[in-house]
Amino acid sequence: MRLLQLVLCLMIPFMLNGCTNEKNLSTYDVQLNTHLPADDLAIKNRIVMKYRNQQPKQWGENISGVYTALNTRDKVIALTLDACGGPAGSGYDAELIYYLRQRNIPATLFVNSRWIDANYWTFLALSQIPLFEIENHGYLHKPLSANGRSAWGIKGTEGVGAMVDEVLVNHRKIQHITGKPPKFFRSGTAYYDDIGVKVVGEVGERVVNYNVLGDAGATFSAEQVKNALLSAKPGSIVLLHMNKPNGGTAEGLKAAIPELISRGYRFVKLTEFPLR
Ligand SMILES: [Zn+2]
Repeated sequence: MRLLQLVLCLMIPFMLNGCTNEKNLSTYDVQLNTHLPADDLAIKNRIVMKYRNQQPKQWGENISGVYTALNTRDKVIALTLDACGGPAGSGYDAELIYYLRQRNIPATLFVNSRWIDANYWTFLALSQIPLFEIENHGYLHKPLSANGRSAWGIKGTEGVGAMVDEVLVNHRKIQHITGKPPKFFRSGTAYYDDIGVKVVGEVGERVVNYNVLGDAGATFSAEQVKNALLSAKPGSIVLLHMNKPNGGTAEGLKAAIPELISRGYRFVKLTEFPLR
């Protein structure tokens, strides 16, 4: 049954909405501080002891240790699609994904734990498509802050332990479902302090943001998305969203990609190039 479901999800992209909400992942939803597996609890305790008395010195989207571009002069662009979940949207932009697959355009998908819960079979299907790679967009979609600092009206993590949970819980979840641990992390809102960036490194991931704001949380019109994409330069990382199908993201992307290809660009996944 699981195999049939997966095949259907892969074969019929526009039916993918019909593949949602069919599996409750509560067994993987680790209660903060209480039900982490023993090995992960040991990792968490080590990181908390190392950083608990430090005060953050930097805060923002583009602080030390945050990667925002591919380190190359080649005419390549990395499309990154966030799937936020929760109040930030658990929809699925099937049109966007269908277009990328039809045109053989690779992308890196940053997926939040709550979006996985709402779209389990879609997530599993996407993780099986070689054109895409799955990365970590956090557990509760919070800015990584040592002291609860907010960004875009979203309250940040409070304390190093909550930072570790934000990264590690979804790291394990993605690893458990797909068989592959994520390599990159992007927080909800893409804000961090310098302790947060270090915590991501302790868990074994690197923080990757962007240098082209592609759809502003899927609030851009199609024309704005197109213009943003056309501003990309060699090595650009573009931030877009795949969880808000009613925005202008898919239409703008479909308008921009043929133009970028005619300008000599090609599209790559984040893991294909070194980062800077
Ligand atoms: Zn998000």
